[in-house]
Amino acid sequence: MDRKKSNRIVILGGGFAGIYTAMHLEKLLRRRDDFEILLVNKENYFVFQPMLAEVVSGSIGILDTVSPIRRMLRKTDLHVREIESIDTHAQTVTTTPGFSHQPNVIQYDHLVLALGNVTDFRGLRGLPEHAIPFKNLSDALYIRNHVIHALEEAAIEHRNAQLRRELLTFVVAGGGFSGVEVVAELNDFVREVIKNYPQIDPDEVRVVLLHALDRILPELDEKLAFYAQKILARRGVDVRLNTKLEAATAAEAILADGQRIPTRTLISTVPSFPNPLIDRLALSKERGRLKVASSLLVEGTNNVWALGDCALVPMKDGGLCPPTAQFAIRQAKTAAANIVASIRGGESKLFHFKELGKLGALGHRSAVAQVFGINVSGFLAWFMWRTIYLMKLPGWGRRLKVAASWTLDLVLPPELVQLQINNSQSVVHEHFEPGQEVFREGDIGDRLYIITSGKAEVTRKNGDGAIPLAQLGAGEYFGEMALLNHTTRNATVRCVESLDVLSIPKREFSALAATLPTMRENLEKVMAQRRNTVMN
Ligand SMILES: Cc1cc2nc3c(=O)[nH]c(=O)nc-3n(C[C@H](O)[C@H](O)[C@H](O)COP(=O)(O)OP(=O)(O)OC[C@H]3O[C@@H](n4cnc5c(N)ncnc54)[C@H](O)[C@@H]3O)c2cc1C
Repeated sequence: MDRKKSNRIVILGGGFAGIYTAMHLEKLLRRRDDFEILLVNKENYFVFQPMLAEVVSGSIGILDTVSPIRRMLRKTDLHVREIESIDTHAQTVTTTPGFSHQPNVIQYDHLVLALGNVTDFRGLRGLPEHAIPFKNLSDALYIRNHVIHALEEAAIEHRNAQLRRELLTFVVAGGGFSGVEVVAELNDFVREVIKNYPQIDPDEVRVVLLHALDRILPELDEKLAFYAQKILARRGVDVRLNTKLEAATAAEAILADGQRIPTRTLISTVPSFPNPLIDRLALSKERGRLKVASSLLVEGTNNVWALGDCALVPMKDGGLCPPTAQFAIRQAKTAAANIVASIRGGESKLFHFKELGKLGALGHRSAVAQVFGINVSGFLAWFMWRTIYLMKLPGWGRRLKVAASWTLDLVLPPELVQLQINNSQSVVHEHFEPGQEVFREGDIGDRLYIITSGKAEVTRKNGDGAIPLAQLGAGEYFGEMALLNHTTRNATVRCVESLDVLSIPKREFSALAATLPTMRENLEKVMAQRRNTVMN
């Protein structure tokens, strides 16, 4: 457990809600050193999601939508880790291990839950395996690379007409703001770069938008939604209304009415679900979102605050705040003021904000906007979209970079480079030298190890010393107990003879154990035998 000052405010999540809460707290607590602000986020950067679709088309650079959190929050202690669990009784948050295997337990006095929501395909046949979500920078990058890959493959695929059709069909499911923006950018991008592929006839390209309701952009005035539909159709997007995506395979999108669209690129912006961490909390919730008072204090607590997409925040007129950045930023100001008031004493503020407007980009220098109740569309709306979001980007440096990218984009063709990035988190080979510990008793169980060569010894603490439990060699494995039982390591494993292992992360291990019952049974048998050996 870490040491803490008298008042530690721990913020979970580095999106709009978390970052802006920390910013306001830094301002309010400027001259006080008895406060500590600590923020935990998976990434060390903040993503400006409204511009994410432009990363897909390359209108702006890959790093233009992100800002390093350390530069935004100079007085906040940043932990770049995945949050593993939250214990509101013990007032602790546990984060996953980084390079070591030690769990990090953080104590808090005030907890701010700003974990957003997640696109979750669970329960939808084939979507977890074959649909691409669109929420983070990594999703945008993946989509961009995948689309270029599909074009490269199509350019040399002359024998299999069906495969060629699949490669040249791009499907987006979800006609809300993010679905419409991504389909517009993707369509512009593909139809522009196709000029570099003389082997592909532009008429072969199909871009499809699936939407379950009878009009896209349900958040907007009907007239604007129809305008957006018309613009997309004119640019070649096949907009299919009242059409629900039901399932997917590697080569097709399967619709609820049984129709099948052959495709190798299926992007889905729906459905949104609460973050699993919020799901697991025994706090007051409705539809998976935390119920908070207008002060942003979670119902039934006196030191847990929630805001942004993971919270259900009441509005003055009786409605609920929509899950948008516009609201999250304003909620952050109220939350910060009320946390300080609850520590120092003072009156609590009630959240109140009237939405300024809604904007949606349609690519090709057009957009739709509803600002202060007035409908604007076309070039003027696009100009407003760009100006407003440019000014909302954090920091002048970032604004200048984006403005430069946009200016160059008006005259230069889009980038066509496909980046191939390896995933360092997946199954890897690891090497250990004699005496080196693979993991220690009490560490978090995050991997399973299969010995490919060398020897390891397993020991357990006994008073000041350690008792040997086993020696393992090539073909044997270790680390399964903590993974199967969801506990910490109950023994230490040390390399005895130059050791090479295949190291499998928990997520991949869990997927294997869940889908291969015989493998799980064998693992459980070995685990029981090992336990008996230790007991005897
Ligand atoms: C493509 C797209 C376009 C959008 N466009 C607009 C727009 O134009 N205007 C608008 O107002 N809104 C827009 N939105 C909605 C807006 O982005 C969200 O409402 C806003 O981001 C909510 O902020 P948040 O902080 O609550 O959640 P998020 O921004 O989702 O932040 C949650 C943070 O928590 C972190 N996190 C989650 N789980 C863990 C974990 N286990 N461990 C560590 N960290 C974790 C995540 O990494 C993330 O940084 C858009 C959303 C998307 C996806």
